[in-house]
Amino acid sequence: MQEKSLWRATAPLLLDMPQLAGEHKVDVAVIGAGFTGLSAALHLAQKGISVAVLEANEIGHGGSGRNVGLVNAGLWLKPAEVIARTGEKTGERLIKFLGEAPAEVFNLVQKYDMECEAKTNGTLHCAPNVKGVKDLEDRLQQWQDQGAPVTLLDQSQTTDALGTDRYKAALLDKRAGTVQPLSYACGLARAAMSHGVKIYEKSAVLKAEQTTNGWSLQTEKGKVAAEKVICATNAYHEHAQANQPPAMSSLYYFQVATDPLSPNQLARILKGKQGCWDTNTILTSFRLNDEGRFVIGSIGNLDHMGGAFHINWARRTMAQLYPELKDKPFTHQWYGRIALTNDHIPRFANPMPGWAMVWGYNGRGIAPGTVFGKALAEFVQSNDADDVPLAQAKLKAEAFTKTQSFFIELGARGHHFINAR
Ligand SMILES: Cc1cc2nc3c(=O)[nH]c(=O)nc-3n(C[C@H](O)[C@H](O)[C@H](O)COP(=O)(O)OP(=O)(O)OC[C@H]3O[C@@H](n4cnc5c(N)ncnc54)[C@H](O)[C@@H]3O)c2cc1C
Repeated sequence: MQEKSLWRATAPLLLDMPQLAGEHKVDVAVIGAGFTGLSAALHLAQKGISVAVLEANEIGHGGSGRNVGLVNAGLWLKPAEVIARTGEKTGERLIKFLGEAPAEVFNLVQKYDMECEAKTNGTLHCAPNVKGVKDLEDRLQQWQDQGAPVTLLDQSQTTDALGTDRYKAALLDKRAGTVQPLSYACGLARAAMSHGVKIYEKSAVLKAEQTTNGWSLQTEKGKVAAEKVICATNAYHEHAQANQPPAMSSLYYFQVATDPLSPNQLARILKGKQGCWDTNTILTSFRLNDEGRFVIGSIGNLDHMGGAFHINWARRTMAQLYPELKDKPFTHQWYGRIALTNDHIPRFANPMPGWAMVWGYNGRGIAPGTVFGKALAEFVQSNDADDVPLAQAKLKAEAFTKTQSFFIELGARGHHFINAR
């Protein structure tokens, strides 16, 4: 399915990356070439620290190459909920840290001249009903109290921005924007390599052993000795027998894309080119790419029998939003797995000496992955847990993760089945 991904079809991929072979020694080994691992590698290498990134598949194989591309500020939770769940000190720090995270992304994009369709014109969180408008009004108030540049568009401004009258209001967050996510991951990889980072693809870590000097990581054909390890495998953790996986539930999210829209259509549909999503529980996201293709998505796994319900729902929803796109065929379709934590707060763990991880971005990992990767880079140098603005978690601290994942997919299938008819 990933072969039919729009992002894979249009990213400046790094081809012919080597597989790890033989024995190597570095200061820090990073497991996983997504935003978290690549940002950690880049920030370590900027300080002259030697780094090897070991990736089981290829760069951006996980959530980083499959997502919607919304570079959002903060978490899904409202600021008051973040404070209620993490305490005032950590909460305030986390809100500021993640509020500034999109700027970190766009600064890196500019500094390393990354080709990733970056747009810094904000995102639109859209309300289809009165309940949604109330939710946005509450978010507006809470973010404005934090001094964030957010504004609420009324119905006519929303209709003008979106080119559809299906939404009653939209929250415009000017800190945010969009990227072509796989291109951004490739951009981070190129930037890290420019500072000497070695990235190995098809190099799954199969075994991890503690040594007197740190860690020894074994792959199919090679071995890396490192003083420290950053494990950035998140929802795509493989080979759990090698190192304990992060505890989480998973949620699947799919997207489909059309052929490019006509110039006339592009003059009306999403004319400000913002990425959008709505306040529904089974949400809809929609955006354009640089070629003018319309990309729409929602919760759901395209594998197995539920896939047809999800695609039919996407067709019908696109036609409801934009009747003129009713007969436009889908040219690309793909999906990915999102790591959810019970309280929707990401996790930071240092379960063994010299081994650090952050995971569980709950569907918001572009900007958070970038800045938590940087924070992990600082943590492995200083050993000061205060470098990561999260309390330390245990690896196994989530209950009912499989049941929760099952019911989320079942709920999305039911919703899309009913609403596709
Ligand atoms: C469909 C979808 C839509 C989303 N939309 C958005 C959005 O619009 N905005 C947003 O901010 N976030 C979004 N997210 C979330 C975001 O994509 C993720 O939070 C983020 O990509 C996580 O990055 P990561 O580097 O931590 O992990 P990943 O990108 O998942 O990378 C983990 C990597 O580890 C590798 N790996 C696993 N096990 C091993 C091993 N044993 N050895 C070596 N390598 C290993 C995997 O192959 C993988 O490449 C979305 C996610 C999905 C799936």
